Amino acid sequence: MYESRKKRRERLWTIAKGTAEHPLCNLCHLPIFTTDRWDESHFPVPKSFGGKATGIAHTLCNRRHGQQVVWPLLAKADRIRARHIGADGPGMGPRAMACGRRSRLRKTIAGRIVERLTLQQKLLSAGVIDPAAIAAAMKPEIED
Ligand SMILES: [Zn+2]
Repeated sequence: MYESRKKRRERLWTIAKGTAEHPLCNLCHLPIFTTDRWDESHFPVPKSFGGKATGIAHTLCNRRHGQQVVWPLLAKADRIRARHIGADGPGMGPRAMACGRRSRLRKTIAGRIVERLTLQQKLLSAGVIDPAAIAAAMKPEIED
């Protein structure tokens, strides 16, 4: 059902006021007078995090809360999510760092530059896997 902005604000004011003379700001807990500017405020869960509960707050309190709490929190959540899904993180720049984890070369402790081994090469050199088993696995099967 459509509710006009005016009706919605009147309803919010009435709910926030309750039986008191003036409604309280849900951020600073000071009274909101009829001469004060006020906004609908999503607190404690911001709307950008799916918060549905609303109250009313001074416009200045609500904007300050948005700038100092909500936006930094949202930016951090975006950074953490990007890192979690592997879209961003260390070594994910446009170019592979010289001898970094994405480079085909590596630098030894002694300072020499050597070719980076694959996992298979490392396991072969350590004797963990048998070269004959790899050769058998790579050989295409011929059916009669
Ligand atoms: Zn306030």
